[in-house]
Amino acid sequence: TQRLVIIYNQQTMINAFEAFSAFRLPRLLGKVALVTGGASGIGESITRLFHIHGAKVCIADLQDNLGNQLIESLGAEANVVFYHCDVTVEDDVRRAVDFTVEKFGTLDVIVNNAGISGSPSPDIRNVDLSEFEKVFNINTKGVFHGMKHAARIMIPQKKGSIISLASVASSLGGIGTHAYTGSKHAVVGLTKSVAAELGNHGIRVNCVSPYAVLTDLALAHLPESERTDDAVDAFRDFVGKNANLQGFELTTHDVANAVLFLASDESRYISGDNLKVDGGFTSVTHSLR
Ligand code: NAD
Repeated sequence: TQRLVIIYNQQTMINAFEAFSAFRLPRLLGKVALVTGGASGIGESITRLFHIHGAKVCIADLQDNLGNQLIESLGAEANVVFYHCDVTVEDDVRRAVDFTVEKFGTLDVIVNNAGISGSPSPDIRNVDLSEFEKVFNINTKGVFHGMKHAARIMIPQKKGSIISLASVASSLGGIGTHAYTGSKHAVVGLTKSVAAELGNHGIRVNCVSPYAVLTDLALAHLPESERTDDAVDAFRDFVGKNANLQGFELTTHDVANAVLFLASDESRYISGDNLKVDGGFTSVTHSLR
């Protein structure tokens, strides 16, 4: 009987925990976050999830309309704001960070999410240098600007979480363009290097590497005239067929959940990491189907 009572008590505790989990406190309550490229795609999901979990958020993006529409849809003007920012311009990023601190008093989390894929050019002999530089300027230099100006605020606070979006192309070739793959490998390198420096100040630095998700960036390899429903279906088919984990489609919300984890104190001992959200794609042997 005693054993039954223990089992019964354990079960009751598990049930209580489940119930508590369902009503648990928001995971970013009181935190202030800046999300670059937070107006659409993966960034939009991050902004939404951070807002749901109690964070005050500044969206730093080029697309004012989308940013302001998102804020309106959240009905949360007081706690989500927009700042027009081109991450390739250091002064823009500096001002976006300062605006966030002025508005909300501090900066606990920065998500360096803004990125582009660049135009496809499988033949290295034809890669246009200006196109190559454009991709690096946004995907790598933009991330560096975010890290640098977040550190300016976070070092005196002795705390903070810096999260950047890399990609499965940060550890494999043959997936994105040369520029994209190089720029995302560089994001992992920057993450490790800055994590090594800022650990002394209690600041965690990580990146997240998703597999393909259907967003504007993912479709950018198609000319606009070809972005028909058929093309989207073909993209989905290709991505689905080549995923390791079959039966699921990766969503922007899945990626946002990984970012939420790294932003929250639940990941307080994780730094210098590249968290893969790829269903095993980069960890198992596979050949494109
Ligand atoms: P997206 O094109 O849907 O959204 C990107 C956002 O960044 C847009 O709101 C855009 O306005 C903004 N942006 C672009 N250039 C900017 C600049 N110079 N300054 C400020 N904002 C700028 O892209 P996404 O698919 O949501 O990608 C987000 C991140 O995730 C990128 O870093 C991307 O490389 C990475 N990623 C995406 C995928 C995918 O399949 N979609 C996979 C792996 C990694």
